[in-house]
Amino acid sequence: MSKKNIRTLDKLELTQGLEALGEKGFRAKQVYQWLWKSRVLDFSQMKNIGKALQSKLDENFESPNTSISHFQQSQDGTIKVGFETYDKETIEGVIIPSEDRITACISSQVGCSLSCTFCATGFLPRKRNLFAFEIYDQVYLLNELALKHYEKPLTNIVYMGMGEPLLNYDEVVKSLHLLHSEEEGLGIGAKRITISTSGIVRNIKKLADEGLKINLALSLHAATNEKRTVIMDINKSNPIEELMKILAYFYEKTNNKITYEYILLNHTNDSVEDALDLAKLCQDFPVYVNLIEYNTVEGTPYSKSKKERRDAFLQTLRDKGVSSKVRRSRGKDIDAACGQLANKIVKMRLDS
Ligand code: SAH
Ligand code: SF4
Repeated sequence: MSKKNIRTLDKLELTQGLEALGEKGFRAKQVYQWLWKSRVLDFSQMKNIGKALQSKLDENFESPNTSISHFQQSQDGTIKVGFETYDKETIEGVIIPSEDRITACISSQVGCSLSCTFCATGFLPRKRNLFAFEIYDQVYLLNELALKHYEKPLTNIVYMGMGEPLLNYDEVVKSLHLLHSEEEGLGIGAKRITISTSGIVRNIKKLADEGLKINLALSLHAATNEKRTVIMDINKSNPIEELMKILAYFYEKTNNKITYEYILLNHTNDSVEDALDLAKLCQDFPVYVNLIEYNTVEGTPYSKSKKERRDAFLQTLRDKGVSSKVRRSRGKDIDAACGQLANKIVKMRLDS
């Protein structure tokens, strides 16, 4: 009989599992803390649970690992990591240090089921969803790297790596609880966590109802259905008017300002008229607009906006009273942008 992956059990299931092996309930709490807070995956290293329980765990469970397979540091300090999953898939994570924070960017799927035309991850097939433990592992390992390289822990987590987090809803929500838990997880406050989504209306609603006060970023990238549908196919089934309604609801429930991510693509979505359309979508609830410099992806027709167009776009938004800034692209020399690392690794594999 194959062994059960112990880190797919929640605390109640672990308690029941250990009781079925004749163990007292409090043991589950100890084991749970070893597995998550200390991330000890080798049962023989769980020091206070006794040899008998260590052997029982070993006979009945396994605890597959996620490990770091690629590491690169950019001149600007950004660290890019390739993780190897237990089944030898590759996912990516990035750490971005700035003056006041250290942000980890993590993945939620292997590849992505959507195919936004500007995104490198969109070219990868979606192989599978990540388990909560694999999302947690990325943060845990990136936090160790942050301590090692910057002598400071992570302060912020963004779900902006590979994949669409709201199409892996259950595992993402489980991972949020684990990251959040002081007693058993990493104790990261909800306000310091941001989920970025291409806009899955039904699951934004679910997330709003979850009671977690995390931040939400919508990858908007175009302010009319006509334009957005061309670059993001998901807009056909989740159009802008429905997104606006559900974001208003999210704001009502969480009181957290919504972020719009808007990549400036040269002569595609970066005219003054586009900026005016975007400003219209910033009236119904508090919004912050992150204008993103495009990281060119081979095989796409897009390039990043020229400086004059970018400046005019930003000025138009500001004149309309919209809070916004242009986000510098970090880690350019190491392709740290969304999906680019994974693409390189896939290419390397094909070439070798
Ligand atoms: N699937 C989710 C989260 C991952 S993508 C989403 O789409 O929001 C994270 C962010 O990176 C998104 O805003 C995405 O549009 C942006 N992005 C993707 N490719 C990019 C590129 N080549 N240059 C700059 N930003 C990119
Ligand atoms: Fe997937 Fe986000 Fe890339 Fe679109 S932008 S393909 S949703 S990862």
